[in-house]
Amino acid sequence: MRKTIIAGNWKMHKTIAEAVTLAEAIKSQNPNPTVEIVICPPFTALAEVAKAVQGSPVAVAAQNMHWEVQGAFTGEVSPAMVKDAGCKYVVLGHSERRQYFGETDETVNKKVKAAIAHELIPIVCVGETLEQREAGQTEDVVATQTKGGLAGLSAQEVADLVIAYEPVWAIGTGRTASDDDAQQVNAYIRSVVAEVFGKEAAEAVRIQYGGSVKPSNAENLLAKGDIDGALVGGASLKIEDFQGIIDGA
Ligand code: 13P
Repeated sequence: MRKTIIAGNWKMHKTIAEAVTLAEAIKSQNPNPTVEIVICPPFTALAEVAKAVQGSPVAVAAQNMHWEVQGAFTGEVSPAMVKDAGCKYVVLGHSERRQYFGETDETVNKKVKAAIAHELIPIVCVGETLEQREAGQTEDVVATQTKGGLAGLSAQEVADLVIAYEPVWAIGTGRTASDDDAQQVNAYIRSVVAEVFGKEAAEAVRIQYGGSVKPSNAENLLAKGDIDGALVGGASLKIEDFQGIIDGA
């Protein structure tokens, strides 16, 4: 049985004080025992947020990291540092990283391996642009990103991580993929995992959907058999919205 995982990606929002306030609010809501909750604050707030939710069921994720342990990489943050700040998860290969910061399947793959080596659980993001969808390339794109991002991993390592299907055209646009479209792509990603890593890994790996998830659409999306959770952007910044999504799970 795959446990539902709802993650709030706060992107480049919130000062340390604001982040701690939101984390405290999330922690103090009634926990839904069937849902795993993850929050992804910016780097500057990770350690304080991790302290604030320590001992609660809320886990913390970084939004990115470098793959090297340490070194002359000005401006970067290493897997060991992310772990040291108190993270359990790390989001890797988000489309904004791919689009604005030149991340490729190859660098995502290095980061995924480094995360696992440091006992961080990767949330690996894949998804097509509008242009690619309209050209009928959705399956090709997500298959290439999934295979590239997970290359060289064992079946067990894949079983233990999280994939997030986030169609780029649905991110921050208010335009959500329909439940059926999202389910179809999530099921396809699972079939790609089955093809490369075997049926057991495919049955175990959790695949989230992300892109304009909000309280009004979460329940229907999360009711789909291959949608094991949500990666939420804008609607994770307000406690009422984020809790509304959790309640819909
Ligand atoms: P929105 O929920 O704001 O569309 O963002 C989705 C996302 O990119 C989460 O990682």
